[in-house]
Amino acid sequence: MYVLVINAGSSSLKYQLLDKDTQRLVGKGLCEKVGSEDSFHRHGLDGDERLDTLPLKDHHDAVQAALRALLDPQGGAVKGIEEIAAVGHRVVHGGEHFSASSVIDDEVVARIRECIPLAPLHNPPALTGIEACADLMPHALQVAVFDTAFHQTLPPKAYLYPLPYELYERHRVRTYGFHGTSHRYVAQRAAALLGRPLDELRLITCHLGNGCSVTAVRNGVSVDTSMGFTPLEGLMMGTRCGSIDPAVVTYLIGSLGMGAGQVDDLMNRRSGLLGVSGVSNDLRDVQAAADAGDERAQLACEMYADSVRRHIGQYVFELAGVDAVVLTAGVGENSDRIRQMIFSGLEPLGFLLDGERNRLRGFERVISSEGSPVRILVVPTNEELMIAQDVASLLDA
Ligand code: AMP
Repeated sequence: MYVLVINAGSSSLKYQLLDKDTQRLVGKGLCEKVGSEDSFHRHGLDGDERLDTLPLKDHHDAVQAALRALLDPQGGAVKGIEEIAAVGHRVVHGGEHFSASSVIDDEVVARIRECIPLAPLHNPPALTGIEACADLMPHALQVAVFDTAFHQTLPPKAYLYPLPYELYERHRVRTYGFHGTSHRYVAQRAAALLGRPLDELRLITCHLGNGCSVTAVRNGVSVDTSMGFTPLEGLMMGTRCGSIDPAVVTYLIGSLGMGAGQVDDLMNRRSGLLGVSGVSNDLRDVQAAADAGDERAQLACEMYADSVRRHIGQYVFELAGVDAVVLTAGVGENSDRIRQMIFSGLEPLGFLLDGERNRLRGFERVISSEGSPVRILVVPTNEELMIAQDVASLLDA
């Protein structure tokens, strides 16, 4: 039996097929430019990838293309569609309705629809993916796995903004937090790596990619997180500014005459590493420019690392100490330089990075020195695996 994991974006659909019991990856693919003339489908496992250029007018077509590849008698991963017992859908926003992954029924669909105003770019394609899979695989259990669910344990003092309380009561303006599936996965892996029960640990998990967030995890539970009402709050990111004085927004609108849409575009797509460096949102490009003497690029890298450091510092206080800091996602997993910048000078506070271990790449490991009071770990994230595990336990239940 297999579990299909679907991540539907506005014009893309990523999928992975995993064995339900062993969690082994048996197939994967990506449909891009769905809805446009030049759509394509890349599929197959590493080293055996194929590219089909074909018209995919919507997500229904994309799911059909995925199933064709997975069921292909020449080299497909499964023999019959009924072997796919369940589908796990990544859904960005579950609002306050979902604190765990849920089997999809009409009520769950209605709740995901209710959250569209909170995630206008993400929840609609997720719903389209759910509809397409329900139509093409009526026998399979459909499960929604929410980015926000892990953070539903935040206490009110952490999730409320100090705004008039009615804004929360009437409009649900509050911190939701995102990247929850990734934070949950790396927290679990960290406990396994440390050989200690998750429910006895104080962890700070740092998802550092193009989008960035940090979470304080006490006894396996998210107690604070840096992203808020939207994924704009918190850390400086690839193109997002993270937290700034909100009065900058009123100044841009009131004094510089910008519209709300322009401010949204400026803060979400033209800020962060890209905005400060003027070079790129990709850390590798910004670092290369810094190495070539570009001062703004150097400044952008320093601001990025400092932003992570400040958030870690905040959560050390909130947790009254920390057992381990876990780094994941594109930058967290790959950039030894940023990791070095984050922890540099923090030795008196118990963060002893091991230079040699820090330079290694590509697998779960401890990168702090023997005897470091706080352990520092790198854990490659695997949201698809976490989704498949949730789906497998719901299937078993
Ligand atoms: P993600 O959103 O998790 O895919 O992460 C994307 C970010 O990871 C981009 O800013 C990349 O520059 C960064 N990244 C990926 N590989 C490396 C690397 N080897 N060194 C530095 N940054 C990297």
